[in-house]
Amino acid sequence: AKGTGGGTFRFYSREMNRRASKRLQVEVDLHRALREQEFFLLYQPQVDAVSGRVSGIEALTRWRHPSLGTVPPDQFIPLAEETGLILPMGEWTLRQACLQTRRWQEQGFNDLRLGVNLSPIQFKRSNVPAMVRKVLAETGFDPHDLELEITEGVLLQKDKGRSECLRELKNMGVSLAIDDFGTGYSSLSYLKHFPIDRIKVAQEFVREIPASIEHLEIIRAIVAMARSLKLNIIAEGVETREQLELITEMGIEDIQGFYFSRPLPGEDVLPFVRRSASR
Ligand code: C2E
Ligand code: CA
Ligand code: CA
Repeated sequence: AKGTGGGTFRFYSREMNRRASKRLQVEVDLHRALREQEFFLLYQPQVDAVSGRVSGIEALTRWRHPSLGTVPPDQFIPLAEETGLILPMGEWTLRQACLQTRRWQEQGFNDLRLGVNLSPIQFKRSNVPAMVRKVLAETGFDPHDLELEITEGVLLQKDKGRSECLRELKNMGVSLAIDDFGTGYSSLSYLKHFPIDRIKVAQEFVREIPASIEHLEIIRAIVAMARSLKLNIIAEGVETREQLELITEMGIEDIQGFYFSRPLPGEDVLPFVRRSASR
């Protein structure tokens, strides 16, 4: 009996050690990544389905790991959030995206809008308006061309300064979008307490159509309520012609999804924007 128990214990503790040291390794790696500029951005076009033109781009972070290759954000953002590294990382992302997009604007696409994701941890642990103001000043980026994407969780955090914080961003001229709308616990009517400009219909819903009538109805309801609250709306995760048709029939004209484009490396963005403008 003694042998079995001890063995099990040793097994678990070895497993736990392994996990802890792997986590520690990734954390060490993340610090280095920030120092050595191993992060880079891809940009996914947002297309007006009626005119075919690119109206904006969303910056999406990637990690070029020296031995693992390109690591997607789901595999490092959670740890960056746990360790607080999301704060310098998030600031780097915003600065980088603003600098890059400004260059594209200077090359003739001066109304190109930039979307950047913010983590709830940034709101919890730092002064987001101060950080954004600093980066805008440093980069000379026009706040009216910036859309910050926040999750429903940010609205639900019990922080009495939260709506003032969002108001402060609005007063700077920045737009606010709710990312993955419908997957959290907030309701549309709840949104009217916050200065939100646009909602992004979660790709979890779009993915289910046309097969699921239920999801079709959910999107229809979101559109109707967004309209009554005078919020703009964009659908994410549109992959097929059929999804595009259903979505636009419901009155959503802004589309982000593989149907039009995957997230693109920087050098492919202007060619894509040019092609869409000349159609
Ligand atoms: P998100 O903000 O919802 O970003 C959209 C994700 O959906 C991207 O994945 C994009 O590649 C993917 N996507 C776009 N269109 C389609 C489609 O038609 N079909 C499918 N199957 N997928 C599509 P990605 O780049 O892996 O990003 C995943 C998540 O990581 C993002 O979800 C966002 O929450 C987070 N993230 C990415 N970059 C950053 C960042 O710089 N800061 C923070 N805080 N989060 C980030
Ligand atoms: Ca997003
Ligand atoms: Ca999203």
